[in-house]
Amino acid sequence: MSDGPSVSVNGRTYRYPRRPTVVVCIDGGEPEYFDRAVAVGVAPAIARFRAQGVSRLARCVVPSFTNPNNLSIVTGVPPAVHGICGNYFYDPATGREVMMNDPAFLRCGTLLAALAQAGARSIVITAKDKLRRLLGHGMTGICFSSEKANQVTKDEHGIERVTDLVPLPVPDVYSAELSEYVLAAGLALLEREQPDIMYLSLTDYIQHKHPPGDPVATRFYAMLDRYFGAFDRAGAVLGITADHGMNAKSRADGTPHVVYLRPLLDTLLGPGRARVILPITDPYVVHHGALGSFATIYLDRAADLPAVLARLRATQGIAEVWDNAEGCRRFELAPDRVGHVLVVAERHVVLGKAPEEHDLSLLEEPLRSHGGVTEQTVPFVLNRPLGAAYARRDGELRNFDIFDYALNGVA
Ligand SMILES: [Zn+2]
Repeated sequence: MSDGPSVSVNGRTYRYPRRPTVVVCIDGGEPEYFDRAVAVGVAPAIARFRAQGVSRLARCVVPSFTNPNNLSIVTGVPPAVHGICGNYFYDPATGREVMMNDPAFLRCGTLLAALAQAGARSIVITAKDKLRRLLGHGMTGICFSSEKANQVTKDEHGIERVTDLVPLPVPDVYSAELSEYVLAAGLALLEREQPDIMYLSLTDYIQHKHPPGDPVATRFYAMLDRYFGAFDRAGAVLGITADHGMNAKSRADGTPHVVYLRPLLDTLLGPGRARVILPITDPYVVHHGALGSFATIYLDRAADLPAVLARLRATQGIAEVWDNAEGCRRFELAPDRVGHVLVVAERHVVLGKAPEEHDLSLLEEPLRSHGGVTEQTVPFVLNRPLGAAYARRDGELRNFDIFDYALNGVA
């Protein structure tokens, strides 16, 4: 480890890593999963961090989706600044609906790129390839996904033959092993490459299917805990958080509890006058059928706004309805990246476009999903205690404070 300069990124200053610093984002890591795993004794590392390090709760970004939160974690700022307000959005400039996976949509730099620029050895590993280019934007170093671990090249990913590193087959994109592979590769690279800073982003496959306390979920958290213990023993400063929580979203009969927005808007305004965007949409529909608890709506006619707000506010299952300006203030979003109306569903409800646009037959279990304010609480864990200055701080934590605490806060 070399000493290097502090770096300033997006209004925050970070100390150069004095020890290898590893941040893990558990996709869909609802805090109760840890509680259940600790309670049955399969998460000794987390139990130890609770006793000797830091274990608190933090709030994630709403919409509580993967891309906005992963980008907040690596930039240290809300989507109002970094611009990634969903996994998917409507681009009024082109009139097209597109995935927000392209770094061209990113409006600021990342901490990882800045540290690499300052001389730090930086590594990013993601489960799903969709996040790789955003997280690795502008960064020199190693950056790849476990989804495409067998397709890495020195030029594109900064590393070759990842598959030699990990004694596991390259996993299926819909599997728990996709996350394990990220951790196994991270641990191997911690030893081989001696990085200064590492960001490991997992997948929410298990959390979408299995509630806290379910044996499959508990086994998954026991696996995570073994790796957390190994990172700790290897001498790393370890920070653990989540991009969002996860809740059951089905009715008593097991069918998804969906409020379909388009039929409602068509009845109110006439057909085709409103465009419903579901920012949960991503290429991995088996997880959630594109059903989450947040939607945004573009209106043809500005004059329709009051009627739409009133109608949605009177709809059962909907928790919050905002116009663009108020919603963007409340959730710290970029006004030009969301529609005229922002809609948040209640805890056990999701928002859909129209029944014919969601293939619910893909769902193998009762729907669990996220996107709303009710999935905003996430774990915030460090394996070491805080120094006096950070220990004294009170006030609420955000998941995107994790690098600040890991680099600046730990004693
Ligand atoms: Zn996620």
